Amino acid sequence: MNKLIVANWKMKFSHREALDWLTISLPEVHQAIADTGHELVICPSFTELSFALSTYPNHSWGAQDCANVLLGAYTGEVSVLSLREMGIRFTLVGHSERRKYYGETDEEVRKKAALLLEHEINPIVCIGETEDQQETKDEVLTQQLSAVLDLYKEDDAAIIAYEPVWAIGSGKTPNKEELQKTIEKIREQADGSLVLYGGSVNPAIAKEFSPFVDGFLVGSASCDSTLLKKIILSC
Ligand code: PEP
Repeated sequence: MNKLIVANWKMKFSHREALDWLTISLPEVHQAIADTGHELVICPSFTELSFALSTYPNHSWGAQDCANVLLGAYTGEVSVLSLREMGIRFTLVGHSERRKYYGETDEEVRKKAALLLEHEINPIVCIGETEDQQETKDEVLTQQLSAVLDLYKEDDAAIIAYEPVWAIGSGKTPNKEELQKTIEKIREQADGSLVLYGGSVNPAIAKEFSPFVDGFLVGSASCDSTLLKKIILSC
């Protein structure tokens, strides 16, 4: 089955490095996409989106965040309206790094998701428990999900990225059976949604988890085109 693979570049590249990657490495990665039929959404920094869209208009591009209001006096923010006009099709919301470092709340995640849906951009809603919340994981995930699920119309498929916070950038991953149970519980609540896994994804993890997820949210490994290609080919 075709998978949705989302590459979150975070702030790992400078502008020049990102442009080099897009110019030199993306054509090679495109071959892996063509060979598998998977969809790859790349989320660079805002500063590269314009170049990315004009150079590869047929590729799927995503933003890493957006403002929780449409327009106005909000210095430094980027409007959903701008993303829409540029042709962005996906945007991450509620990434654990936004929640942790910028205090993003479920309420803000909801506002962002609502604006994105209104402007026909797919929110990729990130949910996940921290190390300290492992005992209460089900409650944490239910609360994060309930912040957004009623925003979707019956025919809209939500895109939920389950990312245990302790697995992000740590090299740790959940065990397969435990993850399978969690994914099933998310599917029970978010009926018809696409459920992605994120957290230290590498080619072996992609191969192991691929049978029971709809795709992956890949952070650091997506900055390395050889690894990204292997991940795509492993799904
Ligand atoms: C992420 O940024 O969403 C992520 C999962 O990062 P990493 O793959 O580096 O753990």
